[in-house]
Amino acid sequence: EAKRLGRRHYRIYSDAMHHSVSERLHAEQALRQALHEQQLEVWFQPILDTRDGSVVMVEALVRWPRDQGYVPPSDFIALAEETGLIIPMGIWIARQALCALPALREHWPELNLNINLSVLQLMQPDLVPRLCTLVDECAVPHSAVHFELTESLFAEQNEFLINQLRQLSDAGFKVHLDDFGTGYSSLERLLTLPIDTLKLDRSFTQTLELGDERLVKAVLLISQEMDMQVIAEGVETEKEMQRLRALGCHLMQGYLFAKPMPLPEIREWLARHGAPRAPPPMVRIPQR
Ligand code: C2E
Ligand code: MG
Ligand code: MG
Ligand code: MG
Repeated sequence: EAKRLGRRHYRIYSDAMHHSVSERLHAEQALRQALHEQQLEVWFQPILDTRDGSVVMVEALVRWPRDQGYVPPSDFIALAEETGLIIPMGIWIARQALCALPALREHWPELNLNINLSVLQLMQPDLVPRLCTLVDECAVPHSAVHFELTESLFAEQNEFLINQLRQLSDAGFKVHLDDFGTGYSSLERLLTLPIDTLKLDRSFTQTLELGDERLVKAVLLISQEMDMQVIAEGVETEKEMQRLRALGCHLMQGYLFAKPMPLPEIREWLARHGAPRAPPPMVRIPQR
């Protein structure tokens, strides 16, 4: 079953790439080298609770510096999946992100870390024990680590993948369903999967800017019934934020607040953004 799913993904990604064979080989070689020479970078983007402005999570996002710029993940994650490089790369990304968490928590001691996982990683039978070892090595509490998986992963009933997800959850990690609304999973599947959070895809957030609240309302209703929290992705405008808040969605991620940043920058940003508000100072009674 896992194999079948793997081949299906392979085909989708191959069709989507309009590069020649030699270009592909060249890119694969360059990516392999970047990984081995530690040229990849892990950046972080904050996720806020807009009720009090507190930073509740950061999402780790991989970056590949190349030719004075960055190759977007949308271009090279698929390549990494096709070539199997995603397995060592995924572990490398997780390690970088986890090792950074203590420094990130300096100003925000309760900060949680979101790490994206590819379906190919989830297909590795030893993924969860390996992640547990990594997390323990970095002395990070399991409850502070959230794994994001895309909804398309569960397009078909796959007992192995569902069991892997359950293992993640049983190990104390939180599971987020990424890009929610864009995949093909049936709503019925939500009932059986151990999912804590739905990440509302940016395309849904954008419907609010256009003045249409129906989709977002429906998703929020579902999340309430399922006892899941919702994070709105790609919040770019004041209007989107206000509409989300009015509808009862308070967790947000997007350029309106901050773009993904390299480690030194996010640390500065977190420091600048300030720790959770202390209780108001006691009123001092003047001494006579
Ligand atoms: P994602 O997991 O849904 O990540 C959110 C993407 O939205 C990121 O793009 C982020 O930079 C972007 N974003 C955040 N706020 C805004 C906004 O307000 N406006 C716009 N236009 N975009 C916003 P990024 O970093 O290019 O990553 C794209 C996708 O690549 C990710 O989508 C994820 O599926 C994948 N990816 C990124 N890093 C990793 C990784 O470490 N491992 C794996 N397996 N996949 C990754
Ligand atoms: Mg994500
Ligand atoms: Mg996402
Ligand atoms: Mg997305």
